[in-house]
Amino acid sequence: MKKSDIKHSWAEPYKIKMVELLKMTTKQQRIKAIKEAGYNTFLLKSEDVYIDLLTDSGTNAMSDIQWAALMLGDEAYAGSKSYYKLEAAIQKYYGYKYIVPTHQGRAAENILSKILIKKGDVIPGNMYFTTTRLHQELAGGTFTDIIIDEAHDPYSDHPFKGNVDMAKLEKVVKKYGAKKIPYISIATNVNMAGGQPVSMANLKELRAYTKKLGIRIIHDMTRVAENAYFIQQREKGYAKKSIKDIVKEICSLTDGATMSAKKDALVNIGGFMATNEWDVFEEARNMVVVYEGLHTYGGLAGRDMEAIAVGIAESLDDNHQRARIGQVEYLGHKMMEYNVPIVQPIGGHGIFVDAKKFLPHLTQDQFPAQTLAAEVYIDSGVRTMERGIVSAGRKANGENYYPKLELVRFTMPRRVYTQAHMDVIAESVASVYERRNSIKGLKMVYEPKYLRFFQAKFEKL
Ligand SMILES: *Cc1c(COP(=O)(O)O)cnc(C)c1O
Repeated sequence: MKKSDIKHSWAEPYKIKMVELLKMTTKQQRIKAIKEAGYNTFLLKSEDVYIDLLTDSGTNAMSDIQWAALMLGDEAYAGSKSYYKLEAAIQKYYGYKYIVPTHQGRAAENILSKILIKKGDVIPGNMYFTTTRLHQELAGGTFTDIIIDEAHDPYSDHPFKGNVDMAKLEKVVKKYGAKKIPYISIATNVNMAGGQPVSMANLKELRAYTKKLGIRIIHDMTRVAENAYFIQQREKGYAKKSIKDIVKEICSLTDGATMSAKKDALVNIGGFMATNEWDVFEEARNMVVVYEGLHTYGGLAGRDMEAIAVGIAESLDDNHQRARIGQVEYLGHKMMEYNVPIVQPIGGHGIFVDAKKFLPHLTQDQFPAQTLAAEVYIDSGVRTMERGIVSAGRKANGENYYPKLELVRFTMPRRVYTQAHMDVIAESVASVYERRNSIKGLKMVYEPKYLRFFQAKFEKL
């Protein structure tokens, strides 16, 4: 082998100090468990799950330094030392001026939406996120999608599928006028598009355009470090820049942010709102007392704020992101070797399997993604979630939405599983793929009114 042929693999920049023991189940036990759960992975008991890929939200493993920081938590009701540490970390690493802690991301969205949105306003965004859009609507606004078309195509290999289509935005501005647009909602590493990044060039163009019109950019920065990693890997001029510097540059192109620290920031609970505007901060500081708690804790324990402050710094380490996203890519490539159809390019926080292509003999009314998630659980105890017709729900007139994408999401918790776990997951999906033609669909037997995917129940056809 020539020296230049040697591949340099990603590897974890940590070692394991403590382990959490898992219950190993038999196939018979899993068949019983999923049947009792109405073939809905959300209704499984977590102790019956071997590898849990339901979500990357709050499922991260904290470092020894974060656990040590918990002991430093200052639980004072007002003026907690831990609050000032969190504030300093956000100012240092993200560059925003004023911050208000909240118990998680949606609480920050609630406060910011109530402050900035008036009835009849329009909020353009690079694809919706469930809670973000709901808070915009509850505040009297209407969300409108301005992401590039490629984001809706699972097989487009566009490197920045999170980008804003400037022509779509200009059309919205022309139609409603800049006065009706309190801000543009920009998510970095777009969750609903499969963890796809926005480019720096696109953000700069957007900044120049909105500056002229006096429109804010509000940043959903839940996965900003993962987005920065993709900019470093794919965008011209950024290969030698650190993730830390790229994150700071992204934030500098925006006016404020909401954050779910349960993702990037490597903790199990927490979030915040940030702004560069004193007036907005003043109002937020007032409002947080109503919904969350005093502005120096916002629904968080002092120890949680300590852990977030440390987690933010750890999330910006180049080696951490290389291993985090390297692991997701490893799993994706392994599935592709087995010809399993997945959304491309591989995103930052998980693998999305195309259930329509996987189970082409099922109609969408037979719930292909729900079926596949249940089959993978039965095969190996790996828990995933449906992102298709069940998640999409019904329109106001009662008809089902029939979304183009019918996906099963394999979401990766940070620093939790090993490469051997990745092999088990890919092999399990491959063995379900091998017997795909014998798999029968499902029928829905219980349907809740709101967000039905959480609690719906099914039976085998
Ligand atoms: C998770 C998430 C949120 C909401 O945050 P919570 O902490 O779950 O309330 C908002 N935006 C995006 C993109 C998310 O992934």
